[in-house]
Amino acid sequence: MDRTTDGSELRATVTNAVREIPTTMDALVLPAAGEYEIQSVPVPEPEPDEVLCRIRAVTICGSDPEIIRGDLAGFWPPAYPFTPGHEWAGEVVAVGDDVYGYEVGDRVAGQAHKGCGFCERCLAGRYNICENYGKPESGHRHYGFTSRGAFAQYNTYSVRSITKLPDNVSFHEGALTDASGVVVHAMELSGITPAGTVAVIGPGPIGLISMRTAKLLGAARVIVIGRGERLRSAERLGADEIIDFEHDDPVDAVRALTGGLGVHEAFECSGARGTFRQAVEMVQRGGRVGLVGVPEGVVMEEIPFGYVVSNEIAVFGSKANPNVSHKILTWVAEERLVLRDLVTHVFALADFPIALETFVKRKDGAMKVVVEPNGPADSGDESRKW
Ligand SMILES: [Zn+2]
Ligand SMILES: [Zn+2]
Repeated sequence: MDRTTDGSELRATVTNAVREIPTTMDALVLPAAGEYEIQSVPVPEPEPDEVLCRIRAVTICGSDPEIIRGDLAGFWPPAYPFTPGHEWAGEVVAVGDDVYGYEVGDRVAGQAHKGCGFCERCLAGRYNICENYGKPESGHRHYGFTSRGAFAQYNTYSVRSITKLPDNVSFHEGALTDASGVVVHAMELSGITPAGTVAVIGPGPIGLISMRTAKLLGAARVIVIGRGERLRSAERLGADEIIDFEHDDPVDAVRALTGGLGVHEAFECSGARGTFRQAVEMVQRGGRVGLVGVPEGVVMEEIPFGYVVSNEIAVFGSKANPNVSHKILTWVAEERLVLRDLVTHVFALADFPIALETFVKRKDGAMKVVVEPNGPADSGDESRKW
């Protein structure tokens, strides 16, 4: 399909293509903890304030293998059978009652959280920490975690959980909105010092996006800490300095690179044991620490209490991505935030087992792995092929 400069032809093509909505679809279904299969299931119908979307691209997140393995069964997901998947983009194919502002043919990106809308947190715009988390009867949704997710050909979404894609942003890029939002939210909480120095611990997809968004938000210099192939990727993709923690102590190395002062902000993007303390010890006086990586289970860390107090170190826990999707999509549309080179592999939904293994084992340098439940999403556009 050709993409015109104003996107009109694209929209027309999409609209024509989506008139037929089947009654059944393919979906990744977890029948029980640790089991998964592709099943034929009914296509859901949108409720009021919801749209039915045809899913064109879903990226596998670090949390997906945990959910599939059943590590958090009873919480994520609360019950079986369940369909995970929360980093997605697609097109609106039907609208429920009372939907305003969206119509069939709209290309959209999703975000995982939809708050109840009326609790104190939601009213303050902090719907990612809604007081009614996990209570669907309140209207709360956490798509792909507590509510049906996107590893399927279709799914219904609240209009509060979708954002329109600019015409020149691909479905693959759109699917990366949720993961990118996690980073941007953390940086909005902590702030980024203009012309300052930032350290990023953990050069996975979240770390690489952190490296880039820190620059977009005004940092002059980014130091990335990691090891192996992913650290080399960070260097290739734009890190100013890299530190291999297998060879150097990260705190000593950061201090050596900053004239002994430490960085203005440090972002922990790995969730690994011991890195919280390192982040605290590598920021300068008055420095800020953003905790983005999700640690396994109930990891306890020893933090130098007096050091934090006497140096006025601020620590920001950060969860998900409230109110940032439109910012990310604007940056991507303006080519200021590049995400497309993070997509290393693309698979059909039928090949989900291979996609999952590629992601989990980081085969062939796997970074972001895209699943396309409805066939190739972006293949018609030469400028967006990768
Ligand atoms: Zn995710
Ligand atoms: Zn709420």
